[in-house]
Amino acid sequence: MKAIRGAITLNGDTEKEVRENVKFLLGEIVSANKLIAEDIICIMFSNTSDIRSFYPAKAAREAGFFNCALYSSLEPEINGSLPYCIRVMILAEITAKPKHIYLKGASDLRKDITQKLNIAIDGPAGSGKSTVSKLISSYFDILYLDTGAMYRACALACINEGVECTNESEVEKIAKKTDITVKYIDGTQRTFLNGKDVSEEIRTPKVSMSASAVAAHACIRNKMVELQRIIAKQNSCVLDGRDIGTNVLPDAKFKFFLTASPEVRAERRLEENKEKGYIQPFEEVLAEIKTRDVQDSTRKIAPLQKAEDAIEIVTDSLSAKEVASFICNEIQRNT
Ligand code: C5P
Repeated sequence: MKAIRGAITLNGDTEKEVRENVKFLLGEIVSANKLIAEDIICIMFSNTSDIRSFYPAKAAREAGFFNCALYSSLEPEINGSLPYCIRVMILAEITAKPKHIYLKGASDLRKDITQKLNIAIDGPAGSGKSTVSKLISSYFDILYLDTGAMYRACALACINEGVECTNESEVEKIAKKTDITVKYIDGTQRTFLNGKDVSEEIRTPKVSMSASAVAAHACIRNKMVELQRIIAKQNSCVLDGRDIGTNVLPDAKFKFFLTASPEVRAERRLEENKEKGYIQPFEEVLAEIKTRDVQDSTRKIAPLQKAEDAIEIVTDSLSAKEVASFICNEIQRNT
């Protein structure tokens, strides 16, 4: 069972306004969440105390919601509360993520839902970016774009063609004939190389090192950054990478830079690799992390760097949940 939230404001306290706006709000929630009557267990309304003319629950019944429990309540008078506002919570038997709907003046209540949101998360390998970004994307119900996966797919293309990733002219030939796309399947990013889903194949330690080399070339970066900007323009999303705050989306309102000591990051990567079946000695992972740090932060184009206006978070002693909840709070406080 899921709880779907929503709210709407009226132009004034009349029966007609209550009837029309309740019908409109419920209609939008039903269509956004693809609800059928049997899914809905109950609909609970609350309204600001300036609405006295009609029960929202009665308006819902009149609008055709016969098979579920309906309930209305009056909110206390709160200073600064929106005038003529009806809030709703629907409990429904659905498995998909609920889509909350805030309409008219009520869209200001949840700007994090109603406005397009681009969140930039940068940092070195193992700083916790991807785990944290997934938590943030699920909290705000927005896309997560793992930009590293795109560079990894480019590296895999070079490996498959036997091309040395440091050889710029050879890499350029590959870039020209290679098609990298991302698709979202059940809300999860899948990365495609020339139409083939390579989402798992790009996670090997070899691809990690090659991605760092390949990502230094302008021919690769220009192509990937263009794609990332298109996705960010069309969707609310959290993007993680090395240059999101400095280069891909320099105007993003929310920028965070995660760091941790190389040892802690190597330990995390070791665990992740173990889960994927890649067993490596700690010293080897640590050396790879350090090499990638140097490569990523000293390259000429869009090096790994904290944007001046990014908030830095040292994650050594923080869990991913703690970092994500700090970031979500920051965003909600500032929207
Ligand atoms: O984040 P991940 O480890 O998957 O990234 C793989 C490599 O891709 C990084 O080491 C980095 O060189 C490159 N990269 C980049 N810019 C990004 C994301 C990743 O250069 N925005």
